Amino acid sequence: MSNLNIENVLSKLGIAKKNESVCTGTQWITAIGSEKVSILSPVDGNKIAEITLAGTTEYEKAISEAQSAFVQWKKLPPPKRGEIVRQIGNRLREYKDELGTLVSYEMGKSIEEGRGEVQEMIDICDFAAGLSRQLYGLTIASERKDHIMMEQWHPLGIIGIITAFNFPVAVWSWNAMLAAVCGNVCIWKPSEKTPLSAVAVQNILRSVLINNNIPEGVFNLILGDFRIGEKMAKDTRIALISATGSTKMGKRVAQIVAGRLGRSLLELGGNNALIITDDADMQNALKAAVFGAVGTAGQRCTSIRRLIIQNTVYDKFLPKLIRIYKQLNIGNPLVESNHVGPLIDKNAVENYKNAIAEAENAGGKILYGNKVLKGKEYESGCYVVPTLIEAKNHFKIVQEETFAPITYIMKYNTLNEAIAMQNDVKQGLSSAIFTNNIKEAQIFISNAGSDCGIANVNIGTSGAEIGGAFGGEKETGGGRESGSDSWKAYMRRQTNTINYGEDIPLAQGIKFEI
Ligand code: NAD
Repeated sequence: MSNLNIENVLSKLGIAKKNESVCTGTQWITAIGSEKVSILSPVDGNKIAEITLAGTTEYEKAISEAQSAFVQWKKLPPPKRGEIVRQIGNRLREYKDELGTLVSYEMGKSIEEGRGEVQEMIDICDFAAGLSRQLYGLTIASERKDHIMMEQWHPLGIIGIITAFNFPVAVWSWNAMLAAVCGNVCIWKPSEKTPLSAVAVQNILRSVLINNNIPEGVFNLILGDFRIGEKMAKDTRIALISATGSTKMGKRVAQIVAGRLGRSLLELGGNNALIITDDADMQNALKAAVFGAVGTAGQRCTSIRRLIIQNTVYDKFLPKLIRIYKQLNIGNPLVESNHVGPLIDKNAVENYKNAIAEAENAGGKILYGNKVLKGKEYESGCYVVPTLIEAKNHFKIVQEETFAPITYIMKYNTLNEAIAMQNDVKQGLSSAIFTNNIKEAQIFISNAGSDCGIANVNIGTSGAEIGGAFGGEKETGGGRESGSDSWKAYMRRQTNTINYGEDIPLAQGIKFEI
């Protein structure tokens, strides 16, 4: 059990005020008379706090705070911006336990995963602080005498960040820390299911802004549902919308933003598969399969949804897998010995039940699970047993992402067949193969292999490191966040030509007398 009492955690994170809706760095604005929403914990069903959703007044205030902050923030040299981000990372280190506990209590992921999520925030702060000294462009050879050409990167302006419930804080930081060192200001709309973790983050970074005399509104927070999200998507004052969530949401946001020729960065649903060959290290494959399928109760965008197992090892692998599933401790995620916590809410439990029923109707065979847990420990009604179903890849339900611990099991003969099955879904986020055969491994990551944004060998589909670019293809949206050169999405490219000669040669050899 986390040794932190929830009341103390809430008070330390400044969640005592229960009716706030917008924060622009150093100042809260109360939305009087707007809609109020109670936030319930999926862990025990208790009300944690009440929030007031932002209305048009608060939204406009956040936009104007962001606009004026941008004028000053973009003028700070990037390494100075990096220094602010470094200090935010340090503040997060101080609050890691408290914030990790709140994430676990509000979202339902295990306490280790809650703390791990805060660690990802700290890591991206370190990464972004270093990046602030490396926002490099190019110089290009010019065809004209005494000219140079170069490429520079400039900030875009306001970045709108819409996040999903399953990573209530880390996904914001992947965007916001990069966007900030690039010279942008942010407006964050967290999931309406996990707004308190976002409020806590805002409270944590506020002191850094105050201590450094940084303008209000570099980091803004708006609490609201899809209506505020759509308002942001339509708003021409927001240069880039970075939206993380379901493919349904992404398609809507993409259309709206494209309609105004704005930019969007989309991180959407996955339907991730793990291929297990007969050359795999079976112990490691088992560990990866279980962790990838039941971690965060199957509510990761990178969760393993499909296990594609070679027919020669299928009958050996399955009983071992089921044996481990039987040993899983399901219960309060704040208790460290529990492996699986609750789903986010009762709707998610309905989706779990419906998906299992649909798979069964399509001809699937339930191998384990299919149970909603009842009793005092499971009072919130959100605890379910991770489920294994023997199924076919073409089943409609297998083709969809169900955000729950349901794993479909399939058999294959040849590697080509396994890769074809792995690729034969609309989503393209993460994928993995377990094999000690170097040829199989190489084929899997070649252009004849996985079509996903992430393709791993001898490691599962989840747990991406922030140093790599994160994102997926096809209906996953094509966006890339976090490491590598993802920072370029938050900047505009400018090509400069400079003439340091005595003459001005005109393009295409045109001449005229003056
Ligand atoms: P969701 O789509 O219901 O909501 C995500 C966010 O979008 C919320 O803040 C929500 O208020 C907002 N939103 C919803 N409709 C909108 C609209 N029409 N316009 C603007 N904003 C809108 O998703 P969720 O249930 O919170 O999260 C689960 C989904 O997120 C899964 O599909 C998962 O795979 C995906 N996800 C993807 C990644 C990734 O990096 N690819 C990471 C985390 C989660």
